[in-house]
Amino acid sequence: MSKIIVALDGFSSCGKSTTAKRVAAKLHYAFVDTGAMYRAVALYFHRNQVDCNDLNAIEKALEEVHITFEFNPERLASDTYLNGENVENEIRKMYISDIVSQVSAIPTVRHAMVAQQQKMGKKKGVVMDGRDVGTVVFPNAEVKIFMTADPKIRAQRRKLELMQKGEDLPIEQIVENLKIRDEIDSNRSEGPLKRADDAIDLDTSYKSMDEQVAFVLEQVRRVQHAGK
Ligand code: C5P
Repeated sequence: MSKIIVALDGFSSCGKSTTAKRVAAKLHYAFVDTGAMYRAVALYFHRNQVDCNDLNAIEKALEEVHITFEFNPERLASDTYLNGENVENEIRKMYISDIVSQVSAIPTVRHAMVAQQQKMGKKKGVVMDGRDVGTVVFPNAEVKIFMTADPKIRAQRRKLELMQKGEDLPIEQIVENLKIRDEIDSNRSEGPLKRADDAIDLDTSYKSMDEQVAFVLEQVRRVQHAGK
């Protein structure tokens, strides 16, 4: 069976990464969490006080940013590394969620990340989740899914996720963060969050994770059989 690219785009906290991870494991494909890459850049910019309006400073900073993923056998998932440091926990914190959309809207940042993502998927056999995978990174991806969910359900999922990582925040703060990120992500000039014309919709509001995974795998099988 020839290898394909599976692009999972959509809003935050629709279950994209968990679905993508499980689909990748089933298919023995690589999984790339593009959101983690933008989060790692945001962490670097935060730590080094990079001015988001200073193009020279941004270009210089991007030369210093090296993002890698390494499998963590304890979690049975990949951890994100920034210049050799495991930043998996740090990049999921709320202070990064609060700044990541400003950083990811910078065209120079997007160009650098998209180029890396395209390299990672060059040989296909990859499941990539993000906002612009099916529109910009791999417009020819064989399977494109656009994930949505009720905003209240997304906020509850996010709250639970943060609690499991030790951050207990009021639901209002989470709702506000998701709203602001949706707004910035959908309206930026470069690579906005947008459904690709040929994407298949998946509303995860009332779906279990098993159902989401099965839905995506079904699309993969359909494409693979058609291409035989
Ligand atoms: O997926 P996650 O919520 O971790 O993504 C964090 C942020 O990274 C998003 O809100 C968005 O600003 C940015 N992002 C992006 N393009 C992608 C993936 C994520 O701009 N392909």
